[in-house]
Amino acid sequence: MSERKRVLGIYGAASSHWVGDGFPVRTVFPSQGVPELSPFLMLDYAGPAHFKPATRPRGVEEHPHRGFETVTISYQGSLDHRDSGGNAGTINPGDVQWMTAASGVVHEEMHGKEFTRKGGDFEMVQLWVNLPAAQKMSKPRYQGIVNAQIPRVELGNGAYARVIAGELKGIKGPAKTFTRVNVFDVRLDPGGRGELSLPAGQNSAIVLLRGNVVVNGASALRGEAQIAPLSSLGESIELAAKEPSLLLVLSGEPINEPVASYGPFVMNTEAELRQAFEDYRAGRMGHV
Ligand code: MN
Repeated sequence: MSERKRVLGIYGAASSHWVGDGFPVRTVFPSQGVPELSPFLMLDYAGPAHFKPATRPRGVEEHPHRGFETVTISYQGSLDHRDSGGNAGTINPGDVQWMTAASGVVHEEMHGKEFTRKGGDFEMVQLWVNLPAAQKMSKPRYQGIVNAQIPRVELGNGAYARVIAGELKGIKGPAKTFTRVNVFDVRLDPGGRGELSLPAGQNSAIVLLRGNVVVNGASALRGEAQIAPLSSLGESIELAAKEPSLLLVLSGEPINEPVASYGPFVMNTEAELRQAFEDYRAGRMGHV
């Protein structure tokens, strides 16, 4: 048996807030007690929430990003995306959009048209992944990854992971990344158990979106929007669920560079942040 990673603490999300008029989110990190987990900068859990039928799509209208990647994972509900690079797509349940803003993307994120018309349950995650300085001003990239492209790996009894990025048991995820990261969508049935390996020497965390899970036979995460950062040492974790549970397990090689961030921009210096605002205002990041 490999050495287990240690649970460093269990933290709940800070209070919820709205992003635009479409996303009732809880910021799982950074939050009180949990700093950024480089290269992961932030994780917002939107919903679960029920939306009534409407005529006009709710969401976030045209806004910029520079210097990092936004990763949007849909569990329930759909999202329409359009950006200044000419990319457009709908993110449906099970799909993942991995958008590398890099030198600059202006996009809008709106509830899907059919979802808006019919209403329904909405549940998504947006994860921000930092880029190394060398890639912050490179060309934007858009990866629209659909459900069927994401391989499923059994972890034990009543437990499996969908490998979005990185590698698990020799199975590689479809997302192309700039640094080494693992993003696993982990599901457990009631009574389900599984073991999962994660590299030593990386920042890692278990995010419980909803459910009730015991980690390494000792630490319990229950309810919604909880995070357990894990020790760098150790190469595996054991999960046992008491209820149907939905988790994200993250690990990544830290980017050891200064972070200067403000709103939708994540750079290395204050001067680069000022430049980002200037470039956006001058229309140099384009328009949707
Ligand atoms: Mn955005």
